[in-house]
Amino acid sequence: MRTNSAHQRDTRYLIHQQTNLDDYARDGGVLMARGDGVYVIDDRGNRYLEAMAGMWCASLGFSEKRLADAAYKQMLELPYYHTFNRAHMPSIDLAEKLIEIAPKVGDAEPLAHVLLQCSGSEANDTAIKLIWYYFNAIGRPQKKKIIGRQRGYHGNTVATVSLSGQPHMHRDFDLPLGDRFLHTENPHYYRYAEPGESEEAFAERLAQQLEALILAEGPDTIAAFFAEPVQGGGGAITPPATYFERVQAILKKYEILFLVDEVICGFGRTGNMWGAETYGIKPDLLTCAKALSASYQPISALLVTDAIYEAMLSQSRKLGTFGHGFTYAGHPVACAVALETLKIYEEDGIVERVRDLAPRMKAGLEALRDHPLVGDVRGVGLMYGVELVADKRTRLPFDPKLKVGQLVLAECQKVGLIVRAIEDRIAFTPPLIITEAQIDEMCGLFRRGLDAAWAGLRG
Ligand code: PMP
Repeated sequence: MRTNSAHQRDTRYLIHQQTNLDDYARDGGVLMARGDGVYVIDDRGNRYLEAMAGMWCASLGFSEKRLADAAYKQMLELPYYHTFNRAHMPSIDLAEKLIEIAPKVGDAEPLAHVLLQCSGSEANDTAIKLIWYYFNAIGRPQKKKIIGRQRGYHGNTVATVSLSGQPHMHRDFDLPLGDRFLHTENPHYYRYAEPGESEEAFAERLAQQLEALILAEGPDTIAAFFAEPVQGGGGAITPPATYFERVQAILKKYEILFLVDEVICGFGRTGNMWGAETYGIKPDLLTCAKALSASYQPISALLVTDAIYEAMLSQSRKLGTFGHGFTYAGHPVACAVALETLKIYEEDGIVERVRDLAPRMKAGLEALRDHPLVGDVRGVGLMYGVELVADKRTRLPFDPKLKVGQLVLAECQKVGLIVRAIEDRIAFTPPLIITEAQIDEMCGLFRRGLDAAWAGLRG
């Protein structure tokens, strides 16, 4: 219940996103007041272990003073400037640093140029435009369709949500838009593999389905394929073994660009700097955001190969201005904070840290397989999903009307743990600065939340 004026003013004036507005108007929500490492504290003094790092993003927790100092220093020096026909040092330094650390997988053409943007959605939306621009530039204007995956998530603009495979974000908005966005099967082994099918056989079947889609649409009409290394918004879904290898072979055969969406997986989350490195992905384009600035400032980046940049250059020679740009893209304060974030990752050896912590996270969550609600536990590095099922043996899902995921989330919140429920899949992406003791605490709190939800369901 809303009990004080801040809560009343919240529900009176503020419209909340990705929220059941009716429930919120009645019950209100948690008002977060401050952060302390991996914990956040609400306006009533309740302390929560933030097992989602906010929105899969606050990689350095909630009280990293160096980032506040970097923002303040930049604000005093040059608080704002645009990047249309202009540059400033933080944007140049950041672009150079991103190219230095960009994934280098096998014989992949290196990512060599950077467009700075403000959010993950913006980076992916810009990428879609750029892909259309590229195929116009190289004289193949019929190559325009983009393939995403069911349950994939690439953002919330009109184009990126169309590409995402999230039916509840299409419904009621008259989306997906037009006929340029296609969706191929979801690589969720636990849910969609046939009984007895190996991961490799499942991956092969998905690759064949992708090829069938390409052939049905006409390979000359397909421009690009977008994928998250591990699907976040789909429910922390790791790819089956050999999946990306098989998919990339098909894309190469039909000259289809691969965009790897590293908005969640980038910057150490999967135990390598990039999810592309963890899964052997050789992208033509890469998008990143969230942990780029530890989310202390809104910033994202789109990285492209020389081939794409060369086509842009030649198009500019012929046609003039590259007609795309945002007021805040490459904002100097956001760039300064991102640079400091990358410096901290390097100094603290964040990738090694994730590798060291990963076994503890895996063991802690795997131990929950004995719980009557838990059907599957999967993940990599510090990114995990726990799938709740009505029948463990048959993998029968719960009736969505029961809202079991939401029930577990609410029970976890009561005991001081913040998780994310994607239907009945519970996601964990704690700040990368979490300690082993805090991972144990997180798993212990989660078991308490599960127990309370189980007791409630049996009623
Ligand atoms: N891509 C992925 C993989 C994401 O998880 C998200 C956000 N959760 C986005 C893109 C969109 O990023 P933003 O919310 O910053 O627009």
